[in-house]
Amino acid sequence: MICKSGTPEAGKTTVTLARGKALIVFRRVSARICPNCGETYLDDGVVDELYHAADQAAKAGVEVDVREFHHVWA
Ligand SMILES: [Zn+2]
Repeated sequence: MICKSGTPEAGKTTVTLARGKALIVFRRVSARICPNCGETYLDDGVVDELYHAADQAAKAGVEVDVREFHHVWA
């Protein structure tokens, strides 16, 4: 359910992605968070970056990793 009353505010969240055998936890991911219901919205560019990083980790043989999220694009 999406609540209509809250206006999402800039914030940070934690995202966990499983890719193959890899389980990657990204901390401090830039997101917009609804102060009313706590729903978290990620920009498409951020999602792409997370999946790309998780794919790279899976290919590198990483099984479990916790990392700080940083934008690699300007
Ligand atoms: Zn909401």
